[in-house]
Amino acid sequence: MTKFTDLGLNQSVLRAVEESGYETMTPIQKQAIPAVMEGKDLIAIAQTGTGKTAAFSLPLIQKLLTGEGKRAPKGARALILAPTRELAIQISENIQAYAKYLHLKSTLIYGGAGAKPQIKAMIAGVDILIATPGRLLDLMNQRHVNLGKVEYLVLDEADRMLDMGFIRDIQKIIAQLPTTRQTLLFSATMPKSVEKLANSILTHPVRIEVAPAATTAEKVAQHVLMVPKGRKRELLAHVLKDENLSRVLIFTRTKHGANKVSRQLEQLGISSDAIHGNKSQNARQKALNSFRSGETRALVATDVAARGIDVDGVTHVINFEIPNEPESYVHRIGRTARAGAAGSSLSFCDHEERAYLKDIEKSIRQPVPVLTDHPFHAEGIAGAPAGEESKPAMTGRRSRGARNGRRASAPGTSSNQNTPRRAGAGAPANSQRSGAGKSRSRNRRPQRTAA
Ligand code: AMP
Repeated sequence: MTKFTDLGLNQSVLRAVEESGYETMTPIQKQAIPAVMEGKDLIAIAQTGTGKTAAFSLPLIQKLLTGEGKRAPKGARALILAPTRELAIQISENIQAYAKYLHLKSTLIYGGAGAKPQIKAMIAGVDILIATPGRLLDLMNQRHVNLGKVEYLVLDEADRMLDMGFIRDIQKIIAQLPTTRQTLLFSATMPKSVEKLANSILTHPVRIEVAPAATTAEKVAQHVLMVPKGRKRELLAHVLKDENLSRVLIFTRTKHGANKVSRQLEQLGISSDAIHGNKSQNARQKALNSFRSGETRALVATDVAARGIDVDGVTHVINFEIPNEPESYVHRIGRTARAGAAGSSLSFCDHEERAYLKDIEKSIRQPVPVLTDHPFHAEGIAGAPAGEESKPAMTGRRSRGARNGRRASAPGTSSNQNTPRRAGAGAPANSQRSGAGKSRSRNRRPQRTAA
């Protein structure tokens, strides 16, 4: 079964799905939709980009349509919890698209925006409430929201919600839901904390695992550029000379760093915006919209802010700094390989970051080829142990390029015929298969990221 029409979905939903341009189901959808339609609880290990939103939204919409439940004042029939405002908004947009020919009512509750309109929207009750945990709990405590009649609960990006310290809020919210309900939990990774939460809230769940981390890592043509820390800005300017890098998501470690890089790009005449936790919801949304429409070429983001950003057609992800967690790396590069599309990533690695790069390569079980043909490479490898220049950072397996003694060229520079295609033109497809099953790190290090 690969077609949406095989699922027994309402015709209006099918029409909306078709208009969204979906033809076949993604793996997570194939597995999750029938199970949810059957009324099963679900635990799904899936990342953003796998089509997970439709995997829970479509059967949920169907169940709300055919079920006997009614909207109750201040209540919701389905509750979807998400870690960030951006993700909540995106889920809401998707649901509105899928339900556009239906009379289902949905609304959003999240922090960082006025509570009054949210309270007002809940007065008569809704079918679907999409919320971030903190603000939702506030409004529940103030008796503006009553979730005593919830039939369906979805936790999206559960791992990130726990990372962000929402466990208590989630527990308090769930304590106020009916115990007979259908619960779906989605998480990109399954650390013990999420497993424990799942065990406490799910009943005989169907377990689904799509292998997105490895898949993502394999779909993206990844390269690393060695560069001294102090010259990363120049390298960025150099790399962006290549116009093939037309929709570029740049990751920095800190909010301050994101602002700085964005300012510098503007000075270079490259349209850009920064998006991070200090920005108002309006500013973030505006930045996202401009990036989506192509008005801005570069969006500079921190990890948390970028989480859940759903922008199609990102041509390149640039890691201005290498993340210290392999998982963040996989999340970041996954932004350029949405729903089956290919993409490229360029990681700027200074001397101190090599250990992180090694961790990443271990985790994705493939080396990241080094692009040598850019002005800062020689300086970038200076001080490195002898022989490091031509080797990917991972010991053991070497990339095909490295094995052949090839070096890759940076975008914005000329390349000799032995080099893979220019990164700007899509970069070499990553042919050095890893056969990696999972790329989730077991031993998380403390977060270095601030967002
Ligand atoms: P998600 O993992 O839910 O964030 O979805 C990632 C992207 O894939 C979104 O832009 C969706 O609109 C898109 N998408 C979801 N399901 C499909 C499908 N079956 N075919 C094509 N695109 C899809």
